[in-house]
Amino acid sequence: MTATTLRAARVLLDGTLRPADLVLCDGRIARIGDPGDTPEGEIIDVPDDAMVLPGVVDTHVHVNEPGRTTWEGFASATRAAARGGVTTIIDMPLNAIPPTVSVAALDTKRAAAEGQRAVNTGFWGGAVPDNLGTLEGLWEAGVFGFKCFLSPSGVDEFPALDAAEFTRAMAEIARFDGLMIVHAEDAAVLDAAPARPSRAYADFLVSRPDDAEITAIRRVIQQVRRTGTRAHLLHLSSARALDEIAAARDEGLPLTVETCPHYLVFTAEDIPDGAPEFKCCPPIRDAGNREALWEALGSGLIDMIVSDHSPSTAEEKQRGDGDYQRAWGGISGLQVGFAAVADAAQARGYGIEHVSRWMSTATADLIGLSAKGRIVPGADADLLVYDPATRWRVTAGELAHKNPISAYDGRELTGSVTTAFVGGRSVDQPLPALDTGRELRRAVAAEAR
Ligand SMILES: [Zn+2]
Repeated sequence: MTATTLRAARVLLDGTLRPADLVLCDGRIARIGDPGDTPEGEIIDVPDDAMVLPGVVDTHVHVNEPGRTTWEGFASATRAAARGGVTTIIDMPLNAIPPTVSVAALDTKRAAAEGQRAVNTGFWGGAVPDNLGTLEGLWEAGVFGFKCFLSPSGVDEFPALDAAEFTRAMAEIARFDGLMIVHAEDAAVLDAAPARPSRAYADFLVSRPDDAEITAIRRVIQQVRRTGTRAHLLHLSSARALDEIAAARDEGLPLTVETCPHYLVFTAEDIPDGAPEFKCCPPIRDAGNREALWEALGSGLIDMIVSDHSPSTAEEKQRGDGDYQRAWGGISGLQVGFAAVADAAQARGYGIEHVSRWMSTATADLIGLSAKGRIVPGADADLLVYDPATRWRVTAGELAHKNPISAYDGRELTGSVTTAFVGGRSVDQPLPALDTGRELRRAVAAEAR
């Protein structure tokens, strides 16, 4: 295959921005040289102000196809990803029908994604009461790990695990050294919290207390300690759970943590009443909580940031006419996430190298994709080009997502993704081609037994 050379004044290499020529060949970064040294093939000049960074690896995306394709789908999700600098997505096992809880369902989802991948796409499996005892088959078929809920998921076809089932699932996953990823809100705590129909965001917040997260996280930690199973806490919202997490880390337990752009950008105080585009579970909390999450990212206690992109149709969002209890819970954030986090990070003194570590390197490492999330010789040529100076306003209707609903609608951001490369191929803008991405499977050979 012919090579191309990407020439830029600011390439993120080893945590530092410096001038470089990246020679891209056969989908990989074949060589990294000083500008002008030894270019090969066509030379693509990146504007001097722009940064070349590893593409974002977003390990938490709900694509919803097949079954709820009116909510999103592979074509619109991966196009939105490509435009937002996300070159790899890992699809969550629920909200599509069937949920990814068997090898047959995994095959169905892989077939659905065929011909509709602007970016690389892999899959998580699910652990539900009915498929316990069969998880190793899914693992061998190439899922990156297993998602479970400790409280109702929001869709009937993906039930939560009760305490006994969670214990069993963790022991089962330990046997093949797999990875459990957990939606950590405790069902009993949620049941006990008042949840009255209301358009007031404050009422919604009361119905999803910090304690639900803290209690569930304690249970996860207990089971990690008992079984040694690697566990990952999904979408941490409550900073009050950080002490528990820090203690577990000090113990040396194999526990990782993610949070999401919306918890780092928005605050409960600013969310209007009757605005379900801001509804997600666990919820966006107050400003003090938001800053504590940033501090935990800075200290390394929170490892990574993922979108938890979970869109729906306007009907689902407007169900109950602004009643937070009845509206679909999920925020559409795949395309805007990187730019929103980079902007908010900059305002707090974090350089782009931090953002890149949280959104590309750490997430790639979580799922063992060691050739992604970094710019080194031999790595996959998945890159994004970021212009840190452009000021723009997010307009939901101009995003590539299927439904023009976004918590970020109207928000002004400084810095935008101008383009991306997937496997060395430049993504067409504004309508990315659908054959740039590859299907990703967990690398069985790379598995540490
Ligand atoms: Zn999710």
